[in-house]
Amino acid sequence: MGVERQGSSVASLFIDGAWTSATTGATSLVINPFDQAVIAEVDVADDVDVALAIDSARRAFDAGEWSGTSATERGALLNRVADLLQRDGEEIARTETLNTGKAIREGRSDVDDVTRVFRYYAGMADKEAGRVVATGSITAVSRIVYEPVGVCALISPWNYPLLQASWKVAPALAAGNTFVLKPAQVTPLTAIHLLRILAEAGLPKGVGNLLLGPGERIGAALAESRDIDLVSFTGGGVAGRSIMRAAAGNVKKVALELGGKSPNIVFADADFETVVDYALTAAFLHSGQVCSAGCRAIVEDSIYDAFVTEVARRTDLIRLGSGFGERTETGPLISAEHLAKVEGYVRIGREEGARLVAGGFRPNEPELANGFFFRPTVFADCRREMRIVQEEIFGPVLTIERFSTEDEAVAIGNDTIYGLAGAVWTNDAGRGQRVAARLRHGTIWINDYHPYLPQAEWGGFKQSGIGRELGPGGLDEYREAKHIYQNTAPGPSGWFGG
Ligand code: NAD
Repeated sequence: MGVERQGSSVASLFIDGAWTSATTGATSLVINPFDQAVIAEVDVADDVDVALAIDSARRAFDAGEWSGTSATERGALLNRVADLLQRDGEEIARTETLNTGKAIREGRSDVDDVTRVFRYYAGMADKEAGRVVATGSITAVSRIVYEPVGVCALISPWNYPLLQASWKVAPALAAGNTFVLKPAQVTPLTAIHLLRILAEAGLPKGVGNLLLGPGERIGAALAESRDIDLVSFTGGGVAGRSIMRAAAGNVKKVALELGGKSPNIVFADADFETVVDYALTAAFLHSGQVCSAGCRAIVEDSIYDAFVTEVARRTDLIRLGSGFGERTETGPLISAEHLAKVEGYVRIGREEGARLVAGGFRPNEPELANGFFFRPTVFADCRREMRIVQEEIFGPVLTIERFSTEDEAVAIGNDTIYGLAGAVWTNDAGRGQRVAARLRHGTIWINDYHPYLPQAEWGGFKQSGIGRELGPGGLDEYREAKHIYQNTAPGPSGWFGG
């Protein structure tokens, strides 16, 4: 999908049920990180547009049309959205590949996942209306009902643009909220498509609004607004902290999905070929621009040398290219700025004395010259205190550490400020469960890496975030529990005498 410039109006903000240009007329170019070609020009909202979008979502919520729609009807609308996502699936996947550089098969699998998330919350919408609470009295009735939180600001990142937005939009709508969505400035295109689909599916005016532009201004204005009841954010820790501070003004609810530095623990008894294969998938899928990337391999002594040698050999074979290329295994980084950040960390790794065994440079193939490419990189002999081991690089850089006992593996795996995800590889089922129980991360894979399910909560321990997305917990983020207590035989209590 291209959002083509039409005269001076690109009309890519969606406010109060209508496509509109930015009040100031400001626009920004959207580029393909594969070759820096301009693929679209979109509006950049300013404070006036932010106020209009918030006002639209506030009025729509307060009018109660959407929250007053039966949960079954809300679910039906989400199912229509899923149908339309399937109808447009190939176009959306191609847009995502064009805008992020990711391999098209990943773009397609993102659309499948997004569709499943909408179907899951479509089904959840009317499954659980509340519960009856035991009062101990036959004249008192007590029940818990769930109500929407209100107006939600949904702020999403560039690595999985539509997927991360959908983890927020689907449960927010299922619960009866209204929202203002703010995708990352560099990857706005599939969010535009989603809002079109929501309108086509019949979402009432004002319930869903879309703002485009820089996070420091627009995201921050949303986080500060007293007319917003909840902010759900996926992104980095710096912005996450500033959102928490901004949200304090009206004590809005805050859900944060932040960064990670996920351990991938390999015991010697696991199948060698499989662990090497998955070490690459864990670390280099989408060029490592994955919040839960297994960028920290922690490997048992007895297979350490063989593991390093084989991982390095296989890393050098990874095929970079256009996301549309049939042979491409992974694409570019998202921007020149991000490439510079990754290169900076590779320099730091060298200075810290880690042993570079693969990559560490920009590829020199002429066909990649205009893209933000970096060769998948492996550092061996890493130690826990190194910055490349502790800090989120968010690029194709794998560090390898060694351990000799189960206790040591767990201690290394937990030695991080983050707690998003991790994996353990072993043929000993008991050990797999023991290690999984002791790792302080929100998702643990045993003998696998990366799968997640719409039915299962996703989120971080420690500085990886607050709250959960997906699963029943992902719906709870967008609901208030209200206790309604009824005395069916009221009479004077006699507490105060007289
Ligand atoms: P980012 O923090 O730069 O931006 C994320 C979003 O927040 C964007 O829409 C951006 O415009 C906006 N934003 C930026 N500064 C803001 C501010 N001060 N106030 C309000 N909004 C602001 O992150 P990114 O570079 O887009 O994404 C990469 C980060 O996201 C990584 O740290 C990654 O680990 C994290 N991430 C986490 C998950 C998860 O599930 N935990 C998933 C994907 C990405």
